[in-house]
Amino acid sequence: MKILVLNAGSSSLKFHLFETDGDAIAAGSDRLLGRGMVDRVSSMKEALERAFAELRPVLGGAPVEAVGNRVVHGGDVFHSSVLVDEEVEKKIEELSALAPLHNPHNLEAIRAARQHLPHAKQVAVFDTAFHHTLPPRAYAYALPYEYMEEKKIRRYGFHGTSHRYVSWRFAQLHGKKRADYRMITCHLGNGCSICAIAGGKSVDTSMGFTPLEGLVMGTRSGDVDAGAILYLITREGKSPDEVLRILNGRSGLKGLSGVSNDMRDVIDAAESGDEHAKLALDVFCYRAAKYIGAYLAAMGGADVLIFAGGIGENSAEARARICAGLGELGIEIDPALNEAAANGDRQIGKSRVQTWVIPTNEELLIARDTWRCIHGVPHE
Ligand code: AMP
Repeated sequence: MKILVLNAGSSSLKFHLFETDGDAIAAGSDRLLGRGMVDRVSSMKEALERAFAELRPVLGGAPVEAVGNRVVHGGDVFHSSVLVDEEVEKKIEELSALAPLHNPHNLEAIRAARQHLPHAKQVAVFDTAFHHTLPPRAYAYALPYEYMEEKKIRRYGFHGTSHRYVSWRFAQLHGKKRADYRMITCHLGNGCSICAIAGGKSVDTSMGFTPLEGLVMGTRSGDVDAGAILYLITREGKSPDEVLRILNGRSGLKGLSGVSNDMRDVIDAAESGDEHAKLALDVFCYRAAKYIGAYLAAMGGADVLIFAGGIGENSAEARARICAGLGELGIEIDPALNEAAANGDRQIGKSRVQTWVIPTNEELLIARDTWRCIHGVPHE
């Protein structure tokens, strides 16, 4: 079955075309037929038209039978991927209040795809879904109780598709189940989050009510004292919109280093002696290490630590710095394995907590979930 996977941003659309079915999923022989990104588009309709223009030679007249849509926020409503119907669309729309920067674009893509491919089934795959198993002690903020109850202010967690994929993949490589291990998965890309997985379930994660909390990211701040934000608004006269732009777009590696949001540039600048870049790298790695320590405490230890995402998969330097002080906690990276030129699934540390790099593949998981939803097959 040909499945188009859509990941819509504010002015861009990433697309992947897969050929997969039950046998291919079981054998891991799903095929990526084409991929691309269109940006600077004024509407998702235009974006899809351009995507199809690129895919036409690959499709050669064959129909796209299903569309898998990445949807960022599923709130406490969606616990797994679902076939999109009117009711689901309405819920995604309601959840836009919780993710105003993401859900409206995801929804626009769903609607444009329906117009373009009226016969294709559509599935929504949520970034939050894998984290629906968080226990109350991990998802509750210590605000007045009614804020959680009535206003739904709580930790939801994001990047769930990535944490779910790499944890599944690690277990699969070992002929086991996710539930056989306590895992800490680090998704370090432009956005960054860490997840604690025990008994096969996400039990804690660093992103919270929005994808802003937790680790230092490319342009996002991660954890900041809420009091500092209030200070910027009440004492420095910043508007809430300005603060949102600062926290989401001008902070993180970019804000601290003043060099770039790209880890490669930050490392280069740090190596050339740039003090701000050195600090940015230091804060990034220290924050990640602190969360790993926190999740060892959350699970009473771990069996495996996994790195994924653009930084997690490619930066031996970042991985080494994050793990440098974790020896007493059972995490030690092997420098030769860590620095070896390789790009697939690989072990980089053989200490009590084994350390691995597992390249993530959110699009593949979205394609597989799409097939499973359509055929009523349970998700792994
Ligand atoms: P992602 O969002 O997963 O695509 O990750 C994007 C980020 O990965 C980029 O902004 C870079 O900071 C980082 N990245 C990619 N390749 C490398 C590399 N070889 N070394 C360090 N960082 C890298």
